[in-house]
Amino acid sequence: MNNISAKADLTAAFQQLRERFAAGLSERSAAMVSVMEQTVTADLLRELIAQAHKLAGGCGTFGYATLGSQARQIELLASVISEKTPAELQQSLPALKRAVQEFDIAVAKAQQQHNDATGVPAQSSLQQLNAIWLLLDDNKLVAELTQQLTAFGHQVEQFDNFDTMVQRLQSTAPAILLSAIQLKDGRSLFSQKYLLNLLAKHHCRLMLYSTTDSFDLRIKAAHHRADAFFVSPLDIPNIIATTTEILEQMTSKPGRVFIVDDDKLLSEHYALVLNAVGIECKILQSVHSIVDELMRFQPDLLLMDMYMPDYSGTELAGLIRQYRSLRRLPIVFLSSETNKQLQIRAMAHGADDFITKPIEDNYLAQLVKIRLIRSKQIKNLIEKDSLTSLVKHSAIKEIAELEFDRAARSKHPLSVVMLDIDRFKSINDNYGHATGDLVITALATLLRKRIRKTDRAGRYGGEEFMLVLPDCDTEQAAKLVETILQVFRTLHFSAADKQFYCTFSAGVASTKDAAFTDAEQMVGAADEALYQAKNSGRDKVCCYKK
Ligand code: GH3
Ligand code: MG
Ligand code: MG
Repeated sequence: MNNISAKADLTAAFQQLRERFAAGLSERSAAMVSVMEQTVTADLLRELIAQAHKLAGGCGTFGYATLGSQARQIELLASVISEKTPAELQQSLPALKRAVQEFDIAVAKAQQQHNDATGVPAQSSLQQLNAIWLLLDDNKLVAELTQQLTAFGHQVEQFDNFDTMVQRLQSTAPAILLSAIQLKDGRSLFSQKYLLNLLAKHHCRLMLYSTTDSFDLRIKAAHHRADAFFVSPLDIPNIIATTTEILEQMTSKPGRVFIVDDDKLLSEHYALVLNAVGIECKILQSVHSIVDELMRFQPDLLLMDMYMPDYSGTELAGLIRQYRSLRRLPIVFLSSETNKQLQIRAMAHGADDFITKPIEDNYLAQLVKIRLIRSKQIKNLIEKDSLTSLVKHSAIKEIAELEFDRAARSKHPLSVVMLDIDRFKSINDNYGHATGDLVITALATLLRKRIRKTDRAGRYGGEEFMLVLPDCDTEQAAKLVETILQVFRTLHFSAADKQFYCTFSAGVASTKDAAFTDAEQMVGAADEALYQAKNSGRDKVCCYKK
């Protein structure tokens, strides 16, 4: 082995050790914090001194000089305190506790910088992705929110002050915290630096609630990267919808990217870089079949070279925008810095962004990821209904059309179900509109839970829903909907101390029932079957008969 490669090996080995040390830092600093949460005894102090000592050494070795000197400070402070009498000891403890907390924050910041640089957030191992924490003063509101969020399958935990939450964060962390900005005791969330840092460290998302609205408060909320800012009176459906959206964003994959570049090697390189942050990629095979390939892959973003020998990026963008279903696809161009005029022209052809070549891998990954998140947010805003978080009328109809075409190609069956709550008007009249909304949300949740991943449910109208079920014939669809109806019948609702139950009627149509020419015809058939169910006594599922 020559000198150069030996040196490279050593560097790589050191880098690996450094990564491993960095990965363990947060846990070790959390251990010190939890020591300070207990009643501090002489034994615990000795343990703290040892931990701080080791950390100080490690931080120095692996290039975290500032953290190293902070750890050394803790070690010194703890050593001095350990010599004191028990009474003096109690007096000095707050200073030591502060030093430990500050160290913990500094570790979180260092890690955040590391994550920002690599574009890969380290998932916090303590975080429970279906847990939602509430810190609100209004008990009635808390009860109502808890009921609704639980109905959606979330785990809700309530807190009444910041300190218990800090303690709880030592052992677990929620996906989302919904917190009042100002508590009744006068304390403000924004002054809880340690709590806010802990939440950020665990990647917890923040939704804020305030009785007043002001520019200053909103700027502070933005500073802490809050996802939502609700002003009283609280709009509960809006909270539920936002919660569902954030959770979906946290658990779903970042999305799919279609890559167009005449340089195949470069395309493959981009694909590798994006794959590394969880983005699924496909590279264009042949430019003449670009539309077909796009329709098939259904990307969330198109990454396209602007200068290619046969067709320019702007020409291809113009062609793509001629297709209605591709008109909303975000297009990000790869282009060299030099030609600003061409960039402007491309913008006019429907480009959404430019990335200047040559591009650093991390930067590409981060930029594409942020774009994907943003376009998904916009898509949700357009397509999703805020009460139920199901897709709206136009989107579910589009899905039916897409699946109809797909079923025609694959020769697999496809079923469509129309579903309508029985005598819903009387529910509104007897128990109020808000209770009516609850019934609608409950059915939406039930539908979402009972269908397969490949099935889709949409809110077709007020109390009307539509299901699109690929690979499913009439009998299977009817059986599924029968089961859902059985469960729905048993849900009890309450309003003003009265309890009541609901039912629905449904109509099923499938590609096996008739030679439908398009999705619209099949939806019409399902509607006809629904009408028949309503007319023959309601609370039942009917199938379309030619
Ligand atoms: P049927 O069994 O024949 O379906 O009777 P119905 O009363 O359910 O049907 P109808 O279509 O006459 O009434 C539907 C009612 O649903 C009318 C409308 O006021 C109410 N509605 C529509 N959208 C909403 C909503 O978002 N929330 C609430 N609470 N009510 C809604
Ligand atoms: Mg109805
Ligand atoms: Mg109706």
